[in-house]
Amino acid sequence: TIKAPRREIRELPSLLISQIAAGEVIERPASVVKELVENAIDAGAEHVEVRADAGGLKRIVVADDGCGIPKEELPLALKRHATSKIRSLLELENVRSLGFRGEALASIDSVSDLSIKSRTADSAVSWQIRGGEVQPAPGMPRGTRVEVDDLFYKTPVRRKFMRAESTETAHIVTQLERVALANPDVEFRFFSNGRETLHLPKASQADRILALMPKDFAGHCRAVEAREGGMRITGLVGLPTVSRTRGDAQYLFVNGRFIRDRVMSHAARAAYEDVLHNKAQPMYCLFLEIPPTEVDANVHPTKSEVRFRESGRVHKLIESAVERALAVSSAGIVDDTEA
Ligand code: ADP
Ligand code: MG
Repeated sequence: TIKAPRREIRELPSLLISQIAAGEVIERPASVVKELVENAIDAGAEHVEVRADAGGLKRIVVADDGCGIPKEELPLALKRHATSKIRSLLELENVRSLGFRGEALASIDSVSDLSIKSRTADSAVSWQIRGGEVQPAPGMPRGTRVEVDDLFYKTPVRRKFMRAESTETAHIVTQLERVALANPDVEFRFFSNGRETLHLPKASQADRILALMPKDFAGHCRAVEAREGGMRITGLVGLPTVSRTRGDAQYLFVNGRFIRDRVMSHAARAAYEDVLHNKAQPMYCLFLEIPPTEVDANVHPTKSEVRFRESGRVHKLIESAVERALAVSSAGIVDDTEA
């Protein structure tokens, strides 16, 4: 075989750079929903409405009542590596917002037809950006409405990887449920092809969990609450009587973000060691709050993984807190006991 002759090195055009970045972060319509809903949470929204048509491939709309984006910043919102959330390495290492990479909107914009309508509290007028043009868009309440049409039409290869509408819709609901679990003080509504299929009013943490966990979880769970050092663990854990064959009702969060983590899931499972046989999967929903400096959230482009500075301490806190919760016989709350 003859090797192709060498071509000179060139910088990639900025659109292609965004499309490559989108390849990592925007896997399917549900990834768009995750990024947009996280932006709504970061904007301080109390009500978030999500719409998906044809599994999100035709259209996704996320509307919130958060702080809004000022007219002058609308072009920046769509620019790669532009963010209002961090300014320095120090702020990155102390980050409390869900976003900080400044890439989501640029990525989505590069693989779809995207528009943002927004109004801030101190502006009488709402504005829209679409295709680089900023124009007045009358009639918006305070907040932001992002519309994503024809996802992946610019990237036909990715488009071909999409599954049935119902599958993509199910992925969207899964992503929404994860964000909703971590934000019980926010109301969420989801419409699929115009029909409301999920409505979560504001609730306490426990009630939000019960609304989203399998039915048999309620009445067969215990509250977890423990602190150690700067860390705090809360949530609900299922009694061994309601275990499953699959680990599909296991939710772990770190600082408000759904994550997959072997240290945390191992610790949770270890707490069931003596009460659950090997193959049975417990149900749980656990929220770890930890100082941002103790955890690296910047491990993975979708931020679905973290690294703990002292994973042994995290493991010990979770295992002992869950063990103690399971040992409580009445449905009582385990209160702020030191781990
Ligand atoms: P990041 O969330 O990492 O900052 P994004 O590309 O998701 O990056 O968003 C870019 C910027 O646009 C954000 O930093 C924020 O200032 C603004 N923004 C995006 N979505 C919203 C929203 N729903 N409400 C208010 N501001 C938003
Ligand atoms: Mg974001």
